[in-house]
Amino acid sequence: MPALAVKKLTKVYRNGHQALRGVDLTVDEGDFFALLGPNGAGKSTLIGIVASLVTKTGGEVHVFGHDLDREPELVKASLGLVPQEFNFNLFLPVIEVVINQAGYYGIPRREAEARAEYALRQLDLWDRRGSQMRVLSGGMKRRLMIARALVHRPRLLILDEPTAGVDIEIRHAVWRFLRELNAGGTTIILTTHYLEEAESLCRNIAIINDGRITENVDMGALLGRLKTQTLVLDLKRRPTRLPQRDGFVLEQRDDHTLEVEVAEDTSINGLFEALSHAGIEVVGLRNKQNRLEQLFLTLVENDRGGRDLPA
Ligand code: ADP
Repeated sequence: MPALAVKKLTKVYRNGHQALRGVDLTVDEGDFFALLGPNGAGKSTLIGIVASLVTKTGGEVHVFGHDLDREPELVKASLGLVPQEFNFNLFLPVIEVVINQAGYYGIPRREAEARAEYALRQLDLWDRRGSQMRVLSGGMKRRLMIARALVHRPRLLILDEPTAGVDIEIRHAVWRFLRELNAGGTTIILTTHYLEEAESLCRNIAIINDGRITENVDMGALLGRLKTQTLVLDLKRRPTRLPQRDGFVLEQRDDHTLEVEVAEDTSINGLFEALSHAGIEVVGLRNKQNRLEQLFLTLVENDRGGRDLPA
């Protein structure tokens, strides 16, 4: 039984705007799933419907086999949502935020306290349990939202842009935590603009654009469609000449920067051999554009132009 099954889902907002145009989506139990799309694509609308925050216009939603129309309470009990916006009482101490949430799910106070402690420790917030929300940093608030969403032990966790506006250290800590949670059996769906996040965490991915799912594949297959990647090399000194080698296109960006376009399936060992041979010393290396981002842009462009997706 899938964790989430969405069929022919539509949403027309009161102002007549059609945000979802017949979305079909299945997320298997245990999956780590990314929902990607540009701003306004319909991501928040879709997860808002699944989390009972937005009413759907048409279609069906099942969460672990429970029908959102007929068993909304069972759907709510089986999922946790980490919304994009902070929506806490700013004057409440951290621990009360989590205990109150447990109360909404009918968890008795004593049990709620134990669960709140566990969740706060997991997210490295136990030391801040007495602090008011308003004094927490952005990263702490984000982690608190996750702790709160987990207190009723949902089998499905949905996160809307979980690391938006979070610095890199916190982002990696959140990623580590989510990976562990997923390894423990929790199904995770996240929306993200931050495409490296999807690439780093998720096994399967759907791309949504203008209220329609345009891609729904596993991450490896998606990345495999890319024909080239561009590497940016930081050089110790300005090179006197650039080596020529099949499979690589080298371009000098400035005195200390070289860009190399590498064809698909080409080993980059040969590139470094050629560079060493030419006396070029590389002190840094990165991908110019995240590969998924590149693919995403291609897909959206193709979609706009009405042309076929890359084979
Ligand atoms: P995303 O999360 O992918 O950025 P949203 O689901 O928030 O996209 O929005 C999808 C589309 O629906 C956008 O064009 C947005 O402007 C519109 N929209 C979102 N919420 C409302 C609303 N309450 N009323 C009218 N239109 C809305």
